[in-house]
Amino acid sequence: MAYLMTETGAELVHDVRRFCELEVYKQSVQWDREGHASEHILQMMREMGYYSLTIPECYGGLGLEAVDIAAVLEEIAKADAGLAVSIAGSNLALRAVLAGGTEEQKEEICGRIAEGQIGAFCLTEAGAGSDAAAMKLRASHMADETWMLTGTKQFITNGSTADFYVVAGISDETGTPSLFLVDAGNEGLTAGAPEEKLGIRSCDTCSVDFSYCRTPEANLIGGPAAEHDPKHGMKAILAALNEGRALMAAMAVGTAQRAMEEAMKYGKERKQFGTAITENQAIQFRLADMQIKIEAARQLTAHALQKMDAGMDFSAEAAMAKAFAADTAIEVTGSAMDVFGGYGFMTHFPAEKLLRDARVFQIIEGTGEMQRTVVAAHLLKEGRR
Ligand SMILES: Cc1cc2nc3c(=O)[nH]c(=O)nc-3n(C[C@H](O)[C@H](O)[C@H](O)COP(=O)(O)OP(=O)(O)OC[C@H]3O[C@@H](n4cnc5c(N)ncnc54)[C@H](O)[C@@H]3O)c2cc1C
Repeated sequence: MAYLMTETGAELVHDVRRFCELEVYKQSVQWDREGHASEHILQMMREMGYYSLTIPECYGGLGLEAVDIAAVLEEIAKADAGLAVSIAGSNLALRAVLAGGTEEQKEEICGRIAEGQIGAFCLTEAGAGSDAAAMKLRASHMADETWMLTGTKQFITNGSTADFYVVAGISDETGTPSLFLVDAGNEGLTAGAPEEKLGIRSCDTCSVDFSYCRTPEANLIGGPAAEHDPKHGMKAILAALNEGRALMAAMAVGTAQRAMEEAMKYGKERKQFGTAITENQAIQFRLADMQIKIEAARQLTAHALQKMDAGMDFSAEAAMAKAFAADTAIEVTGSAMDVFGGYGFMTHFPAEKLLRDARVFQIIEGTGEMQRTVVAAHLLKEGRR
């Protein structure tokens, strides 16, 4: 993607690479074992502005192109996918506010993220995953001009570390999903225990319970417009997910790229039958196939992001990129494990962690089936591409 990036984007990627070399690569194995990243690294990421990359220029952001942001996230995912997913979780909350919020809400949230705060996007529930509209969390408009939220959200990224939560609930005004801002520290909000996960173990994932959770009337995202428009909340949710998916694809690409590079490095050192295994054409072709798929995923991602920056409908492209990049990450990390042979199966070599981390991209922000549903709906509607 380098040739598409702005000068600022390229400089940022350079800095991020250095940061990852110094602070992330070695420690990420320990975070994986412990099931969480260190406080130190999370604080550094806040201070370095890695959570605020997607703030638009008009709200004080760096004014990066979407491909710049994707390249930065790819770089972070290459070092540790869990850290990149934490940024993605906060970004979803931001995007939902940007898509549906009032001017005051957009300014407030952009300001808070620029100061180092992070968000969590609370959509999924035990009974509402792919079918998000089946959510049960209730939002009741109270006589004292507050909203009372009651329900529990599942698998929330940054669930116990966020400073603010963007929560989807069925509004009793419209009978449809609306979004609400809830601050950390609200006495009606309780984060559950950390989930024990297969991969991206450095990332904070937990349930978040809302019991008699009151949030001011001004925290309804979109204000009066949302109170009277039954589609307002869902439109903001879908807008956030579209961009989220394209960026998630970039993270899958980063994970796959790391796997290819680790396999190549190992293959050059590993000797069998008196020569490095990379001297075998079979291994060379395997590495080549891995890189071909990675480049294809990267280009599909860039295409979706360029359409987004151009203000065009990019929902089908985002879904294609996410589905393809996630499948590529699984295929490539699996191939990397093959190149490592038996050592690939052992936890003190990098291949197995990459394979475990890659698995999340086929689930998070919509499963592969849901991405294909979006693509098929576009095809059937348009009749051609
Ligand atoms: C690590 C992690 C972090 C997450 N972070 C967040 C977060 O920050 N915020 C948030 O709101 N959510 C988050 N999620 C939730 C995630 O978005 C959901 O897990 C995902 O959307 C799938 O929902 P589900 O788990 O309920 O699976 P289900 O919807 O129950 O799906 C189960 C299976 O059925 C398939 N399926 C379902 N319906 C159909 C259909 N109509 N056609 C074909 N196949 C179908 C699915 O593709 C899947 O294979 C996170 C999940 C994970 C694993």
